[in-house]
Amino acid sequence: MTAKKRTRPRRHHVTTSCQVTANIALRVDGEPLALELTVPGGTATAQQLLPALRILTDQLVDAAIHKVEAAGQKVSCQKGCGACCRQLVPIAPAEAHRLQTVVDALPEARRAEVVVRFAEARSRLQAADQLDTLLDTSPMTLEQRRRFGLDYFRLGIACPFLLDESCSIYHERPLACREYLVTSPVAHCAQPSASTIDCVPMPVKVSVALHRLESAQDTASASWVPLIIAPEWAQMHPAAPPTSSGPAQLESVFELLGATQSVT
Ligand code: SF4
Repeated sequence: MTAKKRTRPRRHHVTTSCQVTANIALRVDGEPLALELTVPGGTATAQQLLPALRILTDQLVDAAIHKVEAAGQKVSCQKGCGACCRQLVPIAPAEAHRLQTVVDALPEARRAEVVVRFAEARSRLQAADQLDTLLDTSPMTLEQRRRFGLDYFRLGIACPFLLDESCSIYHERPLACREYLVTSPVAHCAQPSASTIDCVPMPVKVSVALHRLESAQDTASASWVPLIIAPEWAQMHPAAPPTSSGPAQLESVFELLGATQSVT
């Protein structure tokens, strides 16, 4: 599966004194994809790019779903099934800071529940000798992360945002959550393995591009953060300062997406 950026953003126009909208034409798996993305016109943090990156991700996911459905397959994921929300979810540092903001903004009673669930998850990870590995910011290879991910899944720790088996922060959910869909039988999600789970293939992953963008901007930062420790991690690591303009960073994301063509 390949994705090819056919053109650079075709047109920029200023929508407010500080926001810039780019009209972008992509070609994904041979199919055209038109996007309108708005980003800060001036110097911006990676976190400020998240609204645009979510739109980009959602449209790429829609295109990927369309492709599997055209091939006669059906996405198995449905509301009320949160099996995958017990997996190790890698998010970008900017997303960890955003989730901290989301938690802080919850109504007090709900915020208290979520804080307790993060604390309980932390205790279980500590008891299982997995916490130190998760807090260690040195990068893991994909194979190391796969093996660790299986051990983590066996603990059965539900994401603290999972409520009645549905995501309680659906519009704020990280990019990796948006990109994970399966066509294999729902029953297989309780015991995921490479041989039983068929993911909807994503031609490119915006989540990976964001990890790489942030690593390039701040080499001291983590390349990824486990969602399950996101608020704690965000409190321990101040957000990276803004580096370049929103349009320049968006351009970098598209370049990085070109470099992630083989990621599935
Ligand atoms: S953020 Fe939402 S979608 Fe992602 S793992 Fe948590 S509950 Fe699931």
